[in-house]
Amino acid sequence: MGKELAKQKMEDADEQVPVQDEWGPTISHNKALFEFGDVFFYTVMLTLIFGSLHVYGERVWEHIVTTYSKEAVFFGGSFIVSMGGFWFWVSLTAVLDLYQFPKSFWRYKIQPQKVPDWSWYRKALSNVLMNQFFVNIPVGYGLYHLMQWRGNSMGMDLPTILDLARDSIGFLIVEELGFYYGHRLLHHPKIYKYIHKKHHEFTAPIGIAAIYAHPVEHFIANVAPLVLGPVLMKSHVITLWIWITIGQTNAINSHCGFHLPLFPSPLAHDYHHEVFHVNFGPVGVLDWLHGTGGSREKTAEKKRLREQQAAEKKRQQLAEQGKADKVN
Ligand SMILES: [Zn+2]
Ligand SMILES: [Zn+2]
Repeated sequence: MGKELAKQKMEDADEQVPVQDEWGPTISHNKALFEFGDVFFYTVMLTLIFGSLHVYGERVWEHIVTTYSKEAVFFGGSFIVSMGGFWFWVSLTAVLDLYQFPKSFWRYKIQPQKVPDWSWYRKALSNVLMNQFFVNIPVGYGLYHLMQWRGNSMGMDLPTILDLARDSIGFLIVEELGFYYGHRLLHHPKIYKYIHKKHHEFTAPIGIAAIYAHPVEHFIANVAPLVLGPVLMKSHVITLWIWITIGQTNAINSHCGFHLPLFPSPLAHDYHHEVFHVNFGPVGVLDWLHGTGGSREKTAEKKRLREQQAAEKKRQQLAEQGKADKVN
């Protein structure tokens, strides 16, 4: 029985063995502490959202809340925001992957030896739609009641950039805690192959693979940490929609397989898909705290140090051997 267990354990560990292949030489794979794109991209995105919200938003929003019921506004708005945001970015990444357009972007491919084709998209499509319809919609129903109970605003008043800044602190904390620990749990050798192995079938991820996952994982790691923040912070429903847009954009960018200039860096999560055992968190604070962060450069550096130490040991052994031979 003990032997059986040990064998099972080894098999489970084997499931998470890193994929060895040639490293793409074209771009730097070292995620800097400060990446210009991380700040630039979201600044532009939020400026566009708040700009249009305050130019056209007030009148349009007033019309919407006075014309439709609360339920219709919540469910209709949440459906449009989550589906529209997801498929907008996924269609752009699909054009880049499948038609290699724009060609110049391909110099930024993180794992250039793995070229996505239609079979990758066919593989992901039904699972992604299933997660959107059978996980997102029931969660939306529960979320509506949770927000009613917490007293989240769905009123005429629009959230300001300051409201979003304040709420974002809570969102980021909940997201980092929920995704990091949920994700580490999913990597536990006893449960990995039942749930999270599916998401890791893409060792070089693509945009649509952001939510290619077992429905249990999609709920635990993707949806729950994203929507719990706005419930806890009693955010306005429009702030919830902005946060969903940012969260989905970030998830797709993290899986898109390209480290494009002026876009947030996807290197950490891409490397997680490549080697499995590092970079569990979305922000990086908990990876730093638990020592689970990693990059290609760090791996190469560790390998170099190991080889250097082994060579040094060998040299000492040979020197001692020589001394002993002389004495004899
Ligand atoms: Zn992933
Ligand atoms: Zn993982």
